[in-house]
Amino acid sequence: MACVSFPYDAPVSQTLFDRASLVTPGGVNSPVRAFRAVGGTPRFMVSGSGPYLTDADGREYVDLVCSWGPMILGHSHPEVIAAVQEAVARGTSFGTPGEGEVALAEEIVARVEPVEQVRLVSSGTEATMSAIRLARGFTGRAKVVKFAGCYHGHVDALLAAAGSGVATFALPDTPGVTGAQAGDTIVLPYNDLDAVREAFAAHPGEIACVITEASPGNMGVVPPLDGFNAGLKELCAADGALYISDEVMTGFRTSKAGWFGVDGVRPDLMTFGKVMGGGFPAAAFGGRADVMAHLAPAGPVYQAGTLSGNPIATAAGLAQLRLLDDAAYAKVDAVSAEIRGLVGEALAKEGVAHTVQAASNMFSVFFTDRPVRNYEDAKQQEAFRFNAFFHSLLSQGVYLPPSAFESWFVSTAHDTQAVERIAAALPAAARAASEATA
Ligand code: PLP
Repeated sequence: MACVSFPYDAPVSQTLFDRASLVTPGGVNSPVRAFRAVGGTPRFMVSGSGPYLTDADGREYVDLVCSWGPMILGHSHPEVIAAVQEAVARGTSFGTPGEGEVALAEEIVARVEPVEQVRLVSSGTEATMSAIRLARGFTGRAKVVKFAGCYHGHVDALLAAAGSGVATFALPDTPGVTGAQAGDTIVLPYNDLDAVREAFAAHPGEIACVITEASPGNMGVVPPLDGFNAGLKELCAADGALYISDEVMTGFRTSKAGWFGVDGVRPDLMTFGKVMGGGFPAAAFGGRADVMAHLAPAGPVYQAGTLSGNPIATAAGLAQLRLLDDAAYAKVDAVSAEIRGLVGEALAKEGVAHTVQAASNMFSVFFTDRPVRNYEDAKQQEAFRFNAFFHSLLSQGVYLPPSAFESWFVSTAHDTQAVERIAAALPAAARAASEATA
């Protein structure tokens, strides 16, 4: 842990965290929220408006997390809120089909050309879990290839990121995942097509699918090298395996059609979440109609959900997607570029080794001067500098993801005033990063 001082306190958040820790493991409902990587008191937020969050101590922050991606229009967008209010007034869940689900599915199919059919679920984890099951059911094969540093939710078979070298059978990353559950998972280094080639050569006709983040954001932002996704698609097709592009993070964020809209590589199956739910639990998986036809009740692969296609979540998601036109993406891309520039400039001025990497408007800062192409590279950075940087910004009212291995997110609501606040906070944060010690 770095020598980070906390020159400020957050008494109400601390009291809430103490209460939470008594009744919830680690005091949070999703681990990274606990600030374990950076230390200090997690901020309990009470409201959000545009680019700002306000915590329980009454402090306002420019939000560069955007709920880990979903809030691409900023917080409390009036049209999204109105759609939710209108939907909630009609009831909260019916357990029957509804028109909102059809409209959201139609919007997804219209935007993302490889998606011919789509099934709605409630979380990104459910989407990737179901896509893997479907790929196995469709191909009649067991093995799954994933990449170290790619996160696909807490699906048992995909929590295997350990193991190194080519075609290493992964050991489970967490107690509770058995060797059997992870035993069919092959973990490979990201951006390494040779490793994928060798895995197919070692297991011909055995691999059901390759799943990859379309452009990874869960080891920090590490875009695919030119030709990597196309190479995956080709290798899968040659062996009869399915190529699954996980667009839970990039979907409807990196362009109107997500990362597919950027690289045009056509997956067999895709997964979505975050932006498509407008801040509510909505996610989806979809793709080739002949593959999706294997899903119950059309086909034999079972998949279901009490709250799947929930009317409020679908209303929020649909309202958000309908507002996301070309102008909205241009705005998010521009503000992302502006903030990236400011961060790079401030760190350079203090002589801090850093690399800013971006995938459209998603970006992150690695505290190393070498390009980061995979998880091993990402781990070489001086993460202790990030911790000092993070706390300096937090104390000045700028809220970053509390980990050096996460993407930063911006929204259409990040206006000049919000950018100016960030700019004003950066010199001291860069200084703190330069003075930090391991
Ligand atoms: N896939 C990717 C690429 C993600 O970034 C995430 C979450 O961050 C997931 C899947 C899991 O989504 P959820 O947290 O909604 O289960």
